[in-house]
Amino acid sequence: MRSPTSLIRPLVRSLEAYVPGEQPRIKGLIKLNTNENPYPPSPKVLAAVRAAVDARLRLYPNPTSHALRVRLARLHGCRPENVFVGNGSDEILALAVRAFVEPLTRRVARPDSRSVVQFFSPSYSLYPVLADAHGAAINAVPLGTDFALPGVAALRRQRRWRFDAALSLVTSPNAPSGRGYETSDLHALAAATRGVVLLDEAYVDFAEDDAMRLALEHPHVIVARTFSKSYSLCFQRIGYAVGHPDLIAAFDRIRDSYNVNGLGQVAALATLDDLPYYRRTIARVVRTRQAMARALGELGFEVLTSQTNFLLVRPPRLPAEIWLERLRARRILVRWFRSRDVREYLRISVGTDAEAKALVRAARAIVREIEGAATLKLRT
Ligand code: PMP
Repeated sequence: MRSPTSLIRPLVRSLEAYVPGEQPRIKGLIKLNTNENPYPPSPKVLAAVRAAVDARLRLYPNPTSHALRVRLARLHGCRPENVFVGNGSDEILALAVRAFVEPLTRRVARPDSRSVVQFFSPSYSLYPVLADAHGAAINAVPLGTDFALPGVAALRRQRRWRFDAALSLVTSPNAPSGRGYETSDLHALAAATRGVVLLDEAYVDFAEDDAMRLALEHPHVIVARTFSKSYSLCFQRIGYAVGHPDLIAAFDRIRDSYNVNGLGQVAALATLDDLPYYRRTIARVVRTRQAMARALGELGFEVLTSQTNFLLVRPPRLPAEIWLERLRARRILVRWFRSRDVREYLRISVGTDAEAKALVRAARAIVREIEGAATLKLRT
C-alpha cells in the first residue's frame, strides 16, 4: 500500500500555504488584524441578499456574472469585455499566474522571463504562495526607503527588476506598508515593463488617486479590485479585473465554471446601486485613520503615512512581537508579520472610532507599564 503522501505531486508536498489573519471567537475582542471594514454593508445590500434567499438557491448562478460585468463596465467607462468578475480578487491573482506564466521545467540560476512572477517586497504575502503553487520562478524586488516605489532609472541601475517578467504584481496602495504610489510613477513602471503588469488596487478606495485608466490605455496592464474592503463584503468573495479584452478572455478560458456565487453577485449589484452610502463609510474610515495615526504618533509610535484602511506602525521600546501579545492580552488583535522587512512593525486595521479609541487607550497603558518597569529597574 503506497503512503497517501506519495500520491501528492512533489511540488505540492513542499508548498507552504498562505497564512490568513487569525479568526478568533473570543467575546469582546477588537479585531484589527485582517483589514475588514468596521461598517456593515448598506441596508439595501442586506435587503437584496435576504430577498434572494429562497427556492432559487437550487439554481446555478449566472456563469459569467454578466449583469455585474455590465454594471462595472458602466462604472469605469469601458465595455463588459474589459471586465472579469472573480471569487474575490485572490482568484484573479491566481488566474493571472495560471494564464500568463509558464511553470518552470527545471530550477536554473536565471529562469526564463516567461516563468517569472515578480513583485515588490514587502507586498501581499499571497503572491509567492501562488507563484510556488504554479511552479513559477519568483523575483521579489525590495522597495526603497520607507517602502517607496523605486523609479525606473533606479530599477535599471539595480538590475533586480525584470522588465521582461511574464507577470508583475504591484500592490497599489501597498500592503502592508499602506503607502500610496503616484499614478505617474506606476505609468512609467508599466510603460517600461513588457510582460503583464497587474495593479492590485484592493485598498484604492481609501486612497487619493487610482490607476484604473492605465488598464484601459495599455493592453498589458490589468487593474484588480475587490468588494471586500471599501464595500464591506469580504464574506461574499467578490473581486474584479479590468483590462484588455484578450487578457480578460484568457481568464474566462481557465476559470471555474460557476466561479462567483449567486448571493455574491446579488450583493455586489446592490452595492453599486448605493455608492453614496459607501462614500460616507469610506470617509469615516479615512477620518478615523488620521486620528489614530496622530494619537499613536503622540505615544511614540513611528506611523507610516497610509492611503489604505490600515496603518503600519513601529511600536516604541519593545519588539513588535511583544506588543502583539500585550495588545492581545488587552483583547485587541492586530497583525504582525515574521518576514524580515516588516518584523519591527505592526499592521493595524482602522476600526470604528470606538475601536480606535480602545486601541489607543490600550497602547497608552502598555507604554505606562513599560515606563513603570523601567523606573523600577533603575531604582533596584
Ligand atoms: N490584494 C491585497 C493586497 C489584499 O490585501 C487582499 C486581501 N487580503 C486581496 C488582494 C484579496 O482580497 P479578496 O480576495 O478578498 O478580494
